[in-house]
Amino acid sequence: MAADTPAPNEALKQQIMDRLKLVNDPELHRDLVTLNRVKHVAICEGYVKVTIELSTATGPMNERIEQSVQSVLRDLPGVGEVKVAFSTGGEGASTGAKSEGNRGATNSGATGSASGEASSERALPGVKHIIAVGAGKGGVGKSTVSVNLAVGLARAGAKVGLLDGDIYGPSLPTMLGLDGMDAETMGPQTIKPFEVSGIKAMTLGKLVEADKPLIWRGPMAHSAFRQLAMQTAWGELDYLIIDLPPGTGDVPLTMSQLLPLTGAVVVCTPQKVAQDDARRAVKMFESLSIPVLGVVENMSYFIGDDGKEYDLFGRGGAEVMAKELGVEFLGMVPINTMLRKNSDSGNPTANFENDAQLGEQLTVVVDHVRERVEALATGDAVVPTISIS
Ligand code: ADP
Repeated sequence: MAADTPAPNEALKQQIMDRLKLVNDPELHRDLVTLNRVKHVAICEGYVKVTIELSTATGPMNERIEQSVQSVLRDLPGVGEVKVAFSTGGEGASTGAKSEGNRGATNSGATGSASGEASSERALPGVKHIIAVGAGKGGVGKSTVSVNLAVGLARAGAKVGLLDGDIYGPSLPTMLGLDGMDAETMGPQTIKPFEVSGIKAMTLGKLVEADKPLIWRGPMAHSAFRQLAMQTAWGELDYLIIDLPPGTGDVPLTMSQLLPLTGAVVVCTPQKVAQDDARRAVKMFESLSIPVLGVVENMSYFIGDDGKEYDLFGRGGAEVMAKELGVEFLGMVPINTMLRKNSDSGNPTANFENDAQLGEQLTVVVDHVRERVEALATGDAVVPTISIS
């Protein structure tokens, strides 16, 4: 189609850029031009190709942006056909998303992307089992269990990764002793995981300023989690443990849509009020069709210097709850000062080596999780769908 009044390309390009200022990034609520997302505008006899840089090559957000770009440019004089392409970084890296629509990436990894970054879109093909660790509320020891589960599995000979999905309050920098280390990239889109205590680990806590409050709205939480999970170079793993944020918010939903989970572990303290929250966590995983591997009771009891066991919170409460819900009980971890100290000093290996009783209690949990995974592995890992009732 010929343009009515062909404008010189530079003038038209300026008009196009002005129109693109009307298109906001749905997550950041700022326009694409201000965010420096418009990487290239090519114009040829009314045919306009706009290349936009986003963190992923395909997906619902890309589709929304593409529609908005189409609608702001459609009636601009001199513009005939508009094509929107997405690059995921790097000069001219174009994925060729077509205007007819490029359906969102799925866990199968078939994204249709032609860019060299396409592998970052696959749902972690080198990872055999992905296990989420969740809790109904904060402070019950979810990160502690995640770290020790990961380290315990690695000590049993498995290749293990640990993803700090608790993007609102990442604990892994402290618990794994990452404080003196810097995150390294392996290319424009790939982060090298930290290798400590026999595991690979990644946490947002090492990618943002430590004392900055991490306030993520829904879509931003989605994006932050997605990038952490997909852009870390995990390589071949037997297990990827994901330490989720407490509660039942956006991240579990994102995770369940993004990754084929083998199952979830729910951490709970024994008190009745904690059980109520844990029940909600169990129900959440079930509603996301993520198999619940079982419940871990943390802070079950306290062993004093006199060797006596003190039942502070109602030992066994989480076990009863697990039975009531028909899910497995994976073990008890008592309140242990060494465990807290080793967490604070970033030395989880010491939990297994310097305190025989603690090491044994943690190993019971690790072995139970392994058995549950093996039992489930006779079928295939579940790609969850959200059931709406
Ligand atoms: P969450 O991830 O559920 O918020 P954390 O794992 O961060 O909880 O644990 C909160 C605090 O409690 C940490 O300081 C941790 O070291 C401590 N803690 C957790 N479990 C135990 C335990 N069994 N014995 C002693 N301290 C514990």
